[in-house]
Amino acid sequence: MIVTAEISEVRLTRWAAPAATWGLVPTMGYLHEGHLSLVRRARAENDRLAASIYVNPTQFAPHEDLATYPRDLARDLALLEAEGVDLVFTPGDEVMYPAGFQTYVQVEQLTRPLEGASRPTHFRGVTTVVAKLFNVIQPTRAYFGQKDAQQSVVIRRMAADLNFNVEVIVCPIVREADGLAMSSRNARLTPEQRQQASVLHEALYTAMTALLDGEQDGDALRAIMGQTVQTRSLARLDYASAADPLTLQELSQVRGDVLFSLAVFFGNVRLIDNLLVTR
Ligand code: AMP
Repeated sequence: MIVTAEISEVRLTRWAAPAATWGLVPTMGYLHEGHLSLVRRARAENDRLAASIYVNPTQFAPHEDLATYPRDLARDLALLEAEGVDLVFTPGDEVMYPAGFQTYVQVEQLTRPLEGASRPTHFRGVTTVVAKLFNVIQPTRAYFGQKDAQQSVVIRRMAADLNFNVEVIVCPIVREADGLAMSSRNARLTPEQRQQASVLHEALYTAMTALLDGEQDGDALRAIMGQTVQTRSLARLDYASAADPLTLQELSQVRGDVLFSLAVFFGNVRLIDNLLVTR
């Protein structure tokens, strides 16, 4: 496994086997089974496999958790090596954003609601870094998690709009035994917060059950999620959404497919989760 922070070495490795198909799994590290599910699928579907580990500062607002984001590069590299990854790109900020950097990629409408409403500068950072990774590595296929549902929609849009020659593949959410979606940020929860954090999953399933029992009113479904979250003393709801899965606009009536999604604070740890119901 080649591990490098240098763009030139990535390109040399990538183009040493130009006819091979390459998969890419972009990550911010502190890997868990959610990340590894993407790695395994990508390993099975491509001749060669690249992963990136980079905690991208441009997708964090100044008050967010960039400084405390968990990191363990040695452990991450051992996990990736065990999965048969060929190339790991671990750039520093000076490689990704050298002095004079001033070009950003911005997807418009799709980045405004949901995560974008709470984190207005987030997706500009995400699409910029993913566009750079696509240009540096030039993967045949890139793998993202449904855990970050809006991110997947935004990246698909970007890849189509900017004609990236990359197939964007979205993989299912991997959960803990109590339903909590795996996330690097879960490591920052206290034991009591961790115990209550299964409420995100519970709220999503409560809304789905209500929908299947005939409740189609968007406001009522959003309220059900909010009320479920409020049953936990340490949880503070950021948003609860029942949106169109393609446009991400809130639905007043749910007649077809719906993306239920949530963001909840436990202290200063912000967790997200979602459930896509297709009918
Ligand atoms: P991150 O390191 O949080 O930026 O995540 C890297 C990739 O892994 C993103 O495409 C995430 O959506 C995906 N991912 C994170 N957590 C999970 C999970 N629990 N299940 C599936 N994919 C995930």
